Amino acid sequence: MTAAAAAIDREAERLTELDSAIGDADHGTNMQRGFAAVVKVVEAEPPATPGAVLTTAGRQLISSVGGASGPLYGTLLRRTGKTLGDAAQVSAEELRAGLRAGVDAVGQLGGSAPGDKTMLDALVPAVEELATSFAAAAEAAEEGARSTVPMLAKKGRASYLGERSIGHQDPGATSSALLFAALAEVAK
Ligand code: ADP
Ligand code: MG
Repeated sequence: MTAAAAAIDREAERLTELDSAIGDADHGTNMQRGFAAVVKVVEAEPPATPGAVLTTAGRQLISSVGGASGPLYGTLLRRTGKTLGDAAQVSAEELRAGLRAGVDAVGQLGGSAPGDKTMLDALVPAVEELATSFAAAAEAAEEGARSTVPMLAKKGRASYLGERSIGHQDPGATSSALLFAALAEVAK
């Protein structure tokens, strides 16, 4: 969570810039506010297990981020955390299974799928590559984010633009790539 918050901080301006092209110019500040709240809460009262860190973080994102990304990322973390259960330690394989369930939950909540020009265009290829390595997953997320440039947005605010959404990288797919890069940094 600390690595994720730092990555978001570094790239917040770029995320907002991307959101200003096809959204309402708040994705960077949304993510920054959300992850700052997450770090504050888990540092103040460190949860006892990896699962509890993720469910607490997810709850924090949902309550502190007003935009669509808050409930979506909040659900991702909460579902991942719930899947891990209350084990004191979690293996890489268990974390992978948790993340797969978390990404499935995002698609269910958002009614979205790869090809809609959303965060799922980064998240779905990333979890598919998790079996290879966390680094491969991060690379797939980055590639997935880039693949949103020529797409027509079918979900979220960008979809209101229709054809004008073409030619811009999706902000949420971009932040998903940052989150997977942070994960690859710490989980080897
Ligand atoms: P808002 O769109 O409410 O201003 P943000 O700007 O923080 O919220 O987040 C926008 C991002 O959320 C988009 O770039 C997209 O990746 C993601 N998003 C929006 N709607 C959906 C959805 N239905 N399913 C998946 N992701 C979505
Ligand atoms: Mg926005």
